Amino acid sequence: MEIRPVRHSKLAEVDFDTLEFGKYVADHMLVCDYADGEWQQPMIVPYSNLSLNPATLALHYGQTVFEGMKAFRMTDGRINIFRMDKHYDRFARSLHRMCMAIPPADIFTEGLTRLVELDRGWVPNQPGAALYLRPFVYASEAKFGVKISEQYRFVIFTGPVPELYTSPIKVKVETNYVRAARGGTGFAKCGGNYGAAYYPTKLAREEGYEQVLWTDAKEHKYIEESGMMNAMFVINDKLVTPPVSDSILDGVTRDSLLTLASALGYETEERPVALAELEAAFRSGTLTEAFGAGTAAVVAPIKTIHINGTDHNLPVYTNASVHRVIKDKLNRIRTGIDGDIYGWNHVIE
Ligand SMILES: *Cc1c(COP(=O)(O)O)cnc(C)c1O
Repeated sequence: MEIRPVRHSKLAEVDFDTLEFGKYVADHMLVCDYADGEWQQPMIVPYSNLSLNPATLALHYGQTVFEGMKAFRMTDGRINIFRMDKHYDRFARSLHRMCMAIPPADIFTEGLTRLVELDRGWVPNQPGAALYLRPFVYASEAKFGVKISEQYRFVIFTGPVPELYTSPIKVKVETNYVRAARGGTGFAKCGGNYGAAYYPTKLAREEGYEQVLWTDAKEHKYIEESGMMNAMFVINDKLVTPPVSDSILDGVTRDSLLTLASALGYETEERPVALAELEAAFRSGTLTEAFGAGTAAVVAPIKTIHINGTDHNLPVYTNASVHRVIKDKLNRIRTGIDGDIYGWNHVIE
């Protein structure tokens, strides 16, 4: 793989004690083009702007897909790319749904590994902080008719991010707008899903809620996701989450937390969660936790859920709360304190 290193690293300009999410990018990026029916040679080059023809198809018709993953500094100083294979599989499923060319697994795996190796100095040492990895593909063909692009560009860039600790948030159950419907693109990490979610989220913020809890598009009876995270609940001491579907994204964090919760002895259930069930569980006091699960924050605890005109409050969380216990276990595996019996860590020597 051709590597063109930077002449001057920007690493010294970054204060790792005051990181902000999305503010800094590391020195290099991977670029690989698809043309004439095949993927060309990937290259690692200095991070720079992309030059786009105004007719670039991705800008008009939305053929764009991304992933969001992280590399962690382990306690022994080595670096771990977390669950690379599962992220690749989802990337491929998203691209397939959007009729886009899929970078081969070896270009993804090799490319990401070489990129992180080269920019290893950018992986933070601070507990909970990480190097965020952003692979994406966009339709790069320049032609202004509506069509499936015949050219694509695959890019990976990275940037150091702090531990995203979110204090418990207020969420509003959304029963008018939808994020995803059966048969749609909800399971894919395609750009359009995010842009379309902004407006209902903005309205919820104006009413004093930080996020929306999405419900199913057909009946608005069942919980789907929490903002751009998977929704999880503790009801009757069981960890309960809606099953993945074509409208619920198959989150890597969700999967990891379910696995760890079972291993730690909690009962887990993947089944539909009705609004009526949540209301009843609030009344009986059996709903003890609600949180979002995703790569950026691991867990985003919820303190209030607004359902059909009523604010319901959750109990105050403690270090014994299930979401904190399983988050802690996940961090211990990722940093190598506890053994990686699941084969989740891709360790760079
Ligand atoms: C990315 C994402 C998630 C979380 O997935 P992770 O793999 O855990 O980061 C959940 N829901 C939506 C809609 C997402 O885009």
